[in-house]
Amino acid sequence: MIKINVDMDKCQHYGQCVFEAPNVFRLNDDDKLEYHATAEDSERDNVQAAIDVCPMQAIFIVD
Ligand code: SF4
Repeated sequence: MIKINVDMDKCQHYGQCVFEAPNVFRLNDDDKLEYHATAEDSERDNVQAAIDVCPMQAIFIVD
């Protein structure tokens, strides 16, 4: 299990993370980011890809 934190003060809701890890991140009907704070280990590579593409460097894996 991995723990995920997004700094919502930094997040600009661009949604790049949604493309990289759609099981973890989504944009809601108001185009605001929602995410699961925990995910299976099998999602780690996808979450890391989301971290890498996030233009605001707002996503963190909390160990
Ligand atoms: S890629 Fe970063 S800035 Fe964009 S929605 Fe995801 S967390 Fe927010």
